[in-house]
Amino acid sequence: MIEYENLGKLNQPFFKEFEHAFKETLESGWYILGKKVQAFENEFADYCGTKHCIGVANGLDALILALRAFNFEKGSEVIVPSNTYIATILSIVHNGLVPVLVEPDIATYNIDAKKIEEKITSQTCAIMVVHLYGKVCEMDAIDAIAKKHNLKVIEDCAQAHGAKYKNVRAGNFGDINAFSFYPTKNLGAIADAGAVTTNDNSLAESIKALRNYGSKVKYYNEVVGFNSRLDEVQAAFLSVKLKSLDKINEHKRTLATIYLKHLKADFIKPVVHPDYFDVYHIFNIRHEKRDELKEYLLKNDIRTDIHYPVAPNKQVAMKGILDTQPSPIADLIHQTTLSLPISYFHTEQDILKVIEVMNKF
Ligand SMILES: *Cc1c(COP(=O)(O)O)cnc(C)c1O
Repeated sequence: MIEYENLGKLNQPFFKEFEHAFKETLESGWYILGKKVQAFENEFADYCGTKHCIGVANGLDALILALRAFNFEKGSEVIVPSNTYIATILSIVHNGLVPVLVEPDIATYNIDAKKIEEKITSQTCAIMVVHLYGKVCEMDAIDAIAKKHNLKVIEDCAQAHGAKYKNVRAGNFGDINAFSFYPTKNLGAIADAGAVTTNDNSLAESIKALRNYGSKVKYYNEVVGFNSRLDEVQAAFLSVKLKSLDKINEHKRTLATIYLKHLKADFIKPVVHPDYFDVYHIFNIRHEKRDELKEYLLKNDIRTDIHYPVAPNKQVAMKGILDTQPSPIADLIHQTTLSLPISYFHTEQDILKVIEVMNKF
């Protein structure tokens, strides 16, 4: 059996260091917003090349707080891709803002920069981009549009730790940017965790207050805040794993290269371009008979996944919110996409086996 993912196996190389990090944190007696969080924040900011990193409880909160930091007027519109994980959309809705969908480019699966301007109105306040599957969006074009219309840019980097566009890492392009360290992500904790990155001092200060009850000085509350703190134990684990993030990404890139080289042309493969350093959080292909293919692979002991089976505007929860915004391109992607095994624990032999079986389909 070739599994799609196995978090125990994925983390196995880090067990010894995790145990040490846990013991150290436990014995320190300091469990919330202490030295471990501070250390990880500094290390991750250094890694991304950003001035600030602020640890929060999870990726959804990172997105919610990132938007909240701007205090946009309720009812303002946020441009967002029509094919993303529901969290991106929820962060907009939870801020009392209105998500406005823009279709993806069918080749990159990321928001189509050419379709953004036609959706901008006098109510638009921001563009929220998602670097889906580990490929950064076309940021030059998007930044130019944002500047022209005086809009804020927020990156959803949940799938793009270490990914680059023109040699700049994800987490640097927006005014403020959100990461998730959900266990399956390229940099994953062993519980929920997240972070915000920014190069803006005052936005960083706002996020620090927002994550901690709106308070900068204990028991003095300046803004209506949240409890969304990264905990010391997860921060300690993340510091351990961050040292291997480049190795994890390189491994995934090696496996992706094998898929790209050997999978037959019947499968629509991810595009590769020299401006983009992709980290393949997900390696997807598209095929008209996706469900049949998934079934066939399962019969041959190969597990796959679908990211995602239902587009946000087709979700029951989005009735009355998104259902008036059609998204034929996102629908096509959701109907045909299949995610292949590409975890840190998979070997080149595993991938060659998947390819051998797939090429007989
Ligand atoms: C995982 C993910 C999130 C949410 O992260 P959580 O830590 O699970 O809250 C947001 N956006 C995208 C694109 C994701 O893949």
